[in-house]
Amino acid sequence: MKNYTKWVLFIFLAALLAFILSPSLERLLTSTSYYGLRIQIMYLSGTLGIIFMSAAVIASARISFINNLLGGLDKAYNFHKLSAGLGFLFGFIHYIISFSNKMLIKAGIIESPASTNHLTGTILEIYKASYAFLDPAFIIMIIVVFIAAYRKIPYHIFQYTHKLIPLLYLFVAFHAFATIFRGGWVGTVGGVILHAFVIIGAVCAVITLFQLTGINKRFNGTVKSIKSIQTGIIEIKISAPDTFKYKAGQFVFLKFKFSFEPHPFSIASYSNDGILTFYIKESGDFTNKIVNNIKEGDTVRVEGPYGQFTFDDSNKNQLWIAGGIGITPFIAALENLSLNKNEKNITLIFSSVGKSPFDDKIKSLCSKSNVKLISVDTNKDGLLTYDKIKSLAPDIAASSIWFCGPYGFRRCVEKGLKADNISIKNLHYDSFTFR
Ligand SMILES: Cc1cc2nc3c(=O)[nH]c(=O)nc-3n(C[C@H](O)[C@H](O)[C@H](O)COP(=O)(O)OP(=O)(O)OC[C@H]3O[C@@H](n4cnc5c(N)ncnc54)[C@H](O)[C@@H]3O)c2cc1C
Repeated sequence: MKNYTKWVLFIFLAALLAFILSPSLERLLTSTSYYGLRIQIMYLSGTLGIIFMSAAVIASARISFINNLLGGLDKAYNFHKLSAGLGFLFGFIHYIISFSNKMLIKAGIIESPASTNHLTGTILEIYKASYAFLDPAFIIMIIVVFIAAYRKIPYHIFQYTHKLIPLLYLFVAFHAFATIFRGGWVGTVGGVILHAFVIIGAVCAVITLFQLTGINKRFNGTVKSIKSIQTGIIEIKISAPDTFKYKAGQFVFLKFKFSFEPHPFSIASYSNDGILTFYIKESGDFTNKIVNNIKEGDTVRVEGPYGQFTFDDSNKNQLWIAGGIGITPFIAALENLSLNKNEKNITLIFSSVGKSPFDDKIKSLCSKSNVKLISVDTNKDGLLTYDKIKSLAPDIAASSIWFCGPYGFRRCVEKGLKADNISIKNLHYDSFTFR
């Protein structure tokens, strides 16, 4: 089981615990009426929904401690996606139970229950206010979640609409916060667990809403040079302050003046001259615009470093697999090794479509750092499959594997390892996609 999946399970158990340690469990078990049961099932689905949603919001706030727990920022986003999906699912069940009940009453099929609301004064006003924008907020959330899940919708539409999520979450969280008073959870352990998730979630939602994520990891750099090194691949050099420290293999978010959003890129250099090098593949709306919109002297906002793709493990044998532009973190790692002593047995398999602009650089760095290089040109040799990797690196089972490349390629490696009963824990990677 992946580390972040374990944390999803942990959140599920925390939500169940919150329900079990609240008055709702006993009410659920002793209830004999339809309304009695319905209301407690709503508390259960609502608790699961809001705790998963809160966990998803917390994971997306780019807090170092949380990222480290989850295995790096990219894994924190995997956790975010899974938790958000589950939060939305339970939230949807909660909403449907409430909505269908209103419909049944309206149609005269069931009678409206006598009010059991014991709240008075300010708490009652807060409780009522928590319903004010709940329906529209939830309906907008359904649309935004659909856009996130339906990958055929362009990434930039997903990105813009996703900015609404923290705001929508705040409405839902306010409702959950107030409902605890209505359900008599205040003063119980369940109430404390739920309030803790909601309060931390709300703080993280505000951080995200005002684009303050990673604010303590930001600096302004200057573009020192920019050029095309091959059709579709750009090299950019950006200055960094002396205080900026990173490990080979890590990445940063770059935000240029012309772009609305920061984008993640691996740092492809490991020099001490205060200059960071990036190799960027022109592959979409943003990357296609860089060359024509950036010039020397421009200011760039840099945020980072992030990531745990840092080649740190105790295994003496490492197998590095790079596909296309996925070579960037390995370039930094090779530079690092060429400056220090390589004490491991490292094989790098680099797969590219046709001649790569990095071929000569990598060849020279590999020979300087005593790394065995195997280059595969898929135009000549065909796609690199797991079986081919095994024939090129027979000691794969005894190696830790560091992979960076397209998602489909990684899945093929993962499946091959599983089929050979090689632990997936040996496979390290940075997800090159956040959606
Ligand atoms: C950890 C990491 C390191 C990366 N390092 C490099 C690198 O060294 N060189 C390189 O060429 N590419 C790298 N990428 C990929 C690069 O970030 C995307 O190719 C780029 O953001 C695409 O933007 P676009 O608008 O041009 O393309 P689009 O067609 O809009 O997007 C293509 C895909 O890129 C991803 N993407 C787009 N915008 C963002 C964003 N703001 N934040 C996160 N993901 C986004 C999405 O998965 C999307 O489906 C890296 C990605 C990650 C996650």
